[in-house]
Amino acid sequence: MSERIVYPKIYIMHRRPRSDCEYFEVRERGGEFIALCKVLGRPLTVTSVEKCEKYWQDCPYRRIAIRMEGRE
Ligand code: SF4
Repeated sequence: MSERIVYPKIYIMHRRPRSDCEYFEVRERGGEFIALCKVLGRPLTVTSVEKCEKYWQDCPYRRIAIRMEGRE
């Protein structure tokens, strides 16, 4: 038996989101898309996704992750 996570609507998109952030991950299920942040370890709300798409270079979480990985 496989377990399926049911996400609330605030996380669901009907288009594939795109971001050049290396911590941005997209999962698709039946034409619906969920974006996850690998730094935060959780799904992103649709409103947050827009920021990841447009302003990922200024994201404070990304900056912290890069610093912690010693890539700065
Ligand atoms: S919240 Fe920041 S670190 Fe996470 S995916 Fe979006 S831009 Fe990247």
